[in-house]
Amino acid sequence: MEAKRKAMSIARWARGNSLWVFPVQLGCCSLEWVSATTARFDMMRLGVEIVPEPELADCLWVMGTVTAKVAPHLKAVYERMREPKWVVAVGACATNEGVFHTDLVVRLDSVLPVDVYISGCPPKPEAMIDGLLLLKERCV
Ligand code: SF4
Repeated sequence: MEAKRKAMSIARWARGNSLWVFPVQLGCCSLEWVSATTARFDMMRLGVEIVPEPELADCLWVMGTVTAKVAPHLKAVYERMREPKWVVAVGACATNEGVFHTDLVVRLDSVLPVDVYISGCPPKPEAMIDGLLLLKERCV
């Protein structure tokens, strides 16, 4: 039993330090994401790897405005990901529709189970790093 618990904690530690992220860039928040992943903020030093296919990812970052038209596609992307998997909503638009109070825009959590919300319009790279640390602490 003790050995199993140790193995689980090692697996959790390894997973938390090698998060494979599939970014979905739907709006202007994406520019801050780019900034967070480049030299100045260097999110990669925290174990983030950006992957090109949802099948490889364990974390979906959705940045920007989620329209009713794009929602089914996001769901399809989520279903292609392997378990365990997490979802991060980045920016006011993804978390609560932002300034778009219309039927054409939906909250991300009405489409997918969101684990971490990162607020701001746009959220700064520091906020993205905070969100990543929160995800590691709470979920992974
Ligand atoms: S939250 Fe603000 S910065 Fe992000 S996509 Fe919406 S309007 Fe653009």
